[in-house]
Amino acid sequence: MRYSWPDGQQCAVVLSFDFDAESGFLFREPEKAKRSLADLEERRFGPRVGVDRILRMLDRLRLPASFFIPGWTVEHHLPQSKLIRDAGHEVGAHGNVHEAVDRLTAEEEERVMRAQLRILQDLLGVRPQGYRSPSWDVNHRTPGILKAHGFLYDSSLMGDDVPYEVPTDHGPLIEVPVQWLLDDAPLFRHVYGATNAIADPARVFELWSREFAGMYREGACFILTCHPFISGRASRVMLLEELVAYMRTFPGVWFTTCAEIARWHADGGSAPRP
Ligand SMILES: [Zn+2]
Repeated sequence: MRYSWPDGQQCAVVLSFDFDAESGFLFREPEKAKRSLADLEERRFGPRVGVDRILRMLDRLRLPASFFIPGWTVEHHLPQSKLIRDAGHEVGAHGNVHEAVDRLTAEEEERVMRAQLRILQDLLGVRPQGYRSPSWDVNHRTPGILKAHGFLYDSSLMGDDVPYEVPTDHGPLIEVPVQWLLDDAPLFRHVYGATNAIADPARVFELWSREFAGMYREGACFILTCHPFISGRASRVMLLEELVAYMRTFPGVWFTTCAEIARWHADGGSAPRP
């Protein structure tokens, strides 16, 4: 085995949700955001419908999940953010207004970090253990900033498919790795005028279930990243439910949160690789 999981289990699975709402659009296209109600409403489907639908699904399946929420979204969609917290799911940090840190100076990145932590603390009473970078954009400074602010882990990088560590000046930061194959946006998100076709949920089931079977054989961690405004659509919630049912036919799958995986890694649970 490449990695040893609790109780001799074979692999780990996390359903993670990046609850962006309008924040990413506001950061990337602030001028268009002043004109376009259509773009804002597309994203408001997340707080208006998607979050509740996903929470009900998780409740039906009795599954924990990790939600990464930008500060702006907590401020502007507080009832939904509280529902997530009150359902017992993990709440992690995800920027303030979904800033891609590549565009920020060191001072701005530090300011954004402080702002998001303050909002999560003041409005939700949450001190997040984990961080997911907006757009999975991480610069060379970011891991050190996370470590300096006391984060246990990051979940934005693709350098392995089991937990690993990123060195920083403040000590190693645990990484709970992601990958594009397990992100709903490239498959389901349609941008008007772009050539990407919307994927058939049956094809995505095929893709994700095959990846799961491979990750299971490898003893890896399957971190799925979905967005309530994309995967909160009815047929896609059904897809997630079918995927979990499929994964549950395998023995020894640890359904958990990113924070639990990071804690397991921090406690030295992982065995050295052969
Ligand atoms: Zn996001």
